Amino acid sequence: MNVYDSVKMGDLLKPHGFSLHDAPEGADMVILNTCHIREKASEKVYSELGRIRKEKERLQKDGSNMVIAVAGCVAQAEGEEIFKRAPFVDIVVGPQSYQNLPALLEEIKRKNSWAIDLDFHHEAKFDTMPEDSGSQGVSAFVSVQEGCDKFCHFCVVPYTRGAEFSRKVSDIMRETIRMIAMGAKEITLLGQNVSAYHGTSEDGSEWTLGLLIKHLVKLKGLERLRYLTSHPRDMTDEELFTVHATEEKLMPFLHLPIQSGSNKILQAMNRKHTREFYLDLIAKFRLARPDMAFSSDFIVGYPGETEEDFLDTISIVREVGYALCYSFKYSPRPGTPASALEHQVPEDVKDERLQRLQSVILEEQHKFNLQKVGMIMPVLFDKVGKKEGQIAGKTPYLQTVIIKGDVDMIGTTANVTITAAYQNSLTGVVVR
Ligand code: SAM
Ligand code: SF4
Repeated sequence: MNVYDSVKMGDLLKPHGFSLHDAPEGADMVILNTCHIREKASEKVYSELGRIRKEKERLQKDGSNMVIAVAGCVAQAEGEEIFKRAPFVDIVVGPQSYQNLPALLEEIKRKNSWAIDLDFHHEAKFDTMPEDSGSQGVSAFVSVQEGCDKFCHFCVVPYTRGAEFSRKVSDIMRETIRMIAMGAKEITLLGQNVSAYHGTSEDGSEWTLGLLIKHLVKLKGLERLRYLTSHPRDMTDEELFTVHATEEKLMPFLHLPIQSGSNKILQAMNRKHTREFYLDLIAKFRLARPDMAFSSDFIVGYPGETEEDFLDTISIVREVGYALCYSFKYSPRPGTPASALEHQVPEDVKDERLQRLQSVILEEQHKFNLQKVGMIMPVLFDKVGKKEGQIAGKTPYLQTVIIKGDVDMIGTTANVTITAAYQNSLTGVVVR
């Protein structure tokens, strides 16, 4: 979502004379688009700001200037506090108000002082976004839903991104068509809770995510469609199971975070679903699409997590046989209910559990990758490889495949015989 928002900020500022640059050195403006999800991500903002400050001071000595803006969820959560800790920052702007960046730039010039906007105006944000977005390449994001009403007890998202909001169907269609026209072959529909999508269509009716997908897959030039991230509780749309069964362009891969395998912890987290409900969902998807693969997010060391609860998490990783997983140590976030709980798990226990979980995850990932050796898989090539003469692409299951190949193949899909599998990638040769 932050990658998508950053592209949009660049688009917004282009008509005001800015162009994108890949380093802060000599820049007229630097925007730090920040993440507040874990303490580590938040703390990075201040160390990064210290680095950028030096460049701003160097430019000021030479008689020029640099505007520094802090955008995103740290801006939303910390607000004016940022100016206190880093008085050289000029603009603080939240994730639902960055469409006002040009006005904020005017304001700092007019007042010769800092400017801040932390309002939540979802509707206005998408309505004022420039139409002519730059290319995102072979694989592009389109935001369809923002915010979250779930209030998991560990999470800051409902506070920093605000309430759930779904974009209009016509806006999503227009943006997807533009992305395809600019070279995108794969579109990922984004939302903090994308399965809660319920946008208004032209005739005023409300469309679910399944219905939206059913229409998007008809777009010419689109080869692959994905959506991210889903909440298990909201996977109630029967149309979604149907489109997985019938639509080839919809990739047989789903990121479905469970966070913990223990029902006690799931309840404490306010996840609103059980382990059994989640496993039933997985079974239902596999019934609709037998080759469906899954990824998940896990948190270890949630307050009150015992060794037994943790072993339930290990067992669900084995039981589902994930293709990919992201795992994190629980990080107490200011203002969330879990941060005030007793029975916080000591840091060394969290470290040890994370290590054990990650080794099981990698084992499962490797197993999943090994199953593909000898198979012919469609690979969409999207970049050059690390070594000379190599290119890299993705299977339908988001596995990275590296082959010897020409850069001209980037942007195309080819059938590849998988020759070897590692924990994080596959290698292969193109079927001639
Ligand atoms: N909406 C998604 C869902 O329901 O799973 C997740 C969105 S969140 C941006 C991405 C992931 O960050 C979560 O799935 C969770 O695993 C992790 N996360 C969120 N808050 C966390 C915290 N306080 N400590 C550690 N990890 C956290
Ligand atoms: Fe955070 Fe996802 Fe829970 Fe919403 S559903 S509160 S974004 S973890």
